[in-house]
Amino acid sequence: MSAEGNGQRHVVIVGGGFAGLGCAQKLAERDDVRVTLLDQNNYHQFQPLLYQVATSLLAPSDIAHSLREVFAGQDNVDVKLAEISDVDAASKTVKANDGGEWTGDALVLAAGSQPNFFQTAGAAENSFPLYSLDNATALRSRILGLFELVDRNPELVDRGALNFVIVGGGPTGVEVAGAIADMINVTVPAEYRSLDASKAHIYLVDLGDALLKPFSDKAHGYVAKVLSDRKVELRLGTGVKEVATGHVALSDGGVIATRCVIWGGGITAAQLASDGGLAPGRGGRIDVEPDLTVTGHPGVYAVGDIANIAGADGRALPQLGSVALQSGKTAAENILAEFDGRPRKSFEYKDKGIMAMIGRGAAIAEVGKNHHEVHGQLAHMAWLGVHASLMTGARDKMEAIIDWGWDRFSKTGGPHVLDRGDAAEINWDDDAVVTAAAAGASPDSEGSPDSPS
Ligand SMILES: Cc1cc2nc3c(=O)[nH]c(=O)nc-3n(C[C@H](O)[C@H](O)[C@H](O)COP(=O)(O)OP(=O)(O)OC[C@H]3O[C@@H](n4cnc5c(N)ncnc54)[C@H](O)[C@@H]3O)c2cc1C
Repeated sequence: MSAEGNGQRHVVIVGGGFAGLGCAQKLAERDDVRVTLLDQNNYHQFQPLLYQVATSLLAPSDIAHSLREVFAGQDNVDVKLAEISDVDAASKTVKANDGGEWTGDALVLAAGSQPNFFQTAGAAENSFPLYSLDNATALRSRILGLFELVDRNPELVDRGALNFVIVGGGPTGVEVAGAIADMINVTVPAEYRSLDASKAHIYLVDLGDALLKPFSDKAHGYVAKVLSDRKVELRLGTGVKEVATGHVALSDGGVIATRCVIWGGGITAAQLASDGGLAPGRGGRIDVEPDLTVTGHPGVYAVGDIANIAGADGRALPQLGSVALQSGKTAAENILAEFDGRPRKSFEYKDKGIMAMIGRGAAIAEVGKNHHEVHGQLAHMAWLGVHASLMTGARDKMEAIIDWGWDRFSKTGGPHVLDRGDAAEINWDDDAVVTAAAAGASPDSEGSPDSPS
């Protein structure tokens, strides 16, 4: 499965996320280049909208697009389902865990990130991360499963069945907290008539003193007010000590009984960065040169979340979709330059701003060169426009726009489909304490000693 004949140069790309897709699309424009795109899934997933699948606003098919379909019209791109576990940078060869092997004239590593649980006791086992489509559908089923259980047995509320604990006050945590609040305040009362939604509690826990840190102080106040008005309880300046099967223990001594802990507490580079055989870089990511080649390995590129890409100030750029897409395209341009015998160029990130959705009619956006900040309906509309335009296929765009319109003007929300029956199979007697430190804490649903610090 190595590079072969007919005069075409061969590029092997690992990862069909924003970075890998951007790179493959640019390379595919050239007939004298052949691309093998390897991914552990046969689809591209639009991560910024995972939280909308988890909260039933969008269907999984709205945000996942078959990679084979994306490249159906491009004969020089071959998609292969493969989980890559090994990188031999010297020979530009990657190996899959089932023995498959691919060698290119150039190699691009674009395997993204994974959740970082910061060694918090029990977090990996007992919380719901939100990094993949699989994570999103698992979380959706747990949320809907809890609603179904409480609808039949209201006493489960006293055991924390309607307590939702979200860890992390960045975009993922804020967006998911706002979306669960919308479910509980708007769609749940319309559909689960025996469920007393006023008994639900949504907690947003973060060690820092503000939500959405990269935005201004004014924005911090706006986000906190919108979420508080929607009955999200903010626990700022508070860490999570452990996540057990039936409760969360906080650094201030508080304990919250819950069967749904959502982990938006941070990310780290994909496993391939540490286990693939390359020298570990700063913060676990792969160190790259300004032209995006892996330090010490010309001809091997690392792009997107997995790479340590320096910005204009020399500091590593944030792990964002825009950085991934732009770096993937620049890597493709540099590979073509290398094949043509032209000089490679340094990557320059064009920052077009950042935005986050807080819930129905509430968003925040920093746009333009001067990072002009807008809040509320206008930011909400900007968010919808930008995210729809970034989605991969025309059908995905249309379906998402219809679902968003439906959500805006109806009270029934999106597809509340409980497709994983086991999500509702909860052993209510199981509340294992994970650490000795938490052993003294007694889980409680409300009125617990979890007062803000
Ligand atoms: C919940 C959430 C919300 C976000 N919201 C925003 C936002 O609003 N705006 C924004 O700009 N950014 C946002 N981001 C960040 C953005 O999604 C990422 O920066 C971007 O997806 C990174 O692109 P990537 O191509 O580097 O990695 P990914 O998109 O993660 O793609 C990596 C690909 O590699 C594949 N892969 C991984 N390991 C292997 C392996 N060993 N073998 C084969 N394939 C492998 C994966 O299956 C995946 O398809 C968000 C991220 C998350 C998780």
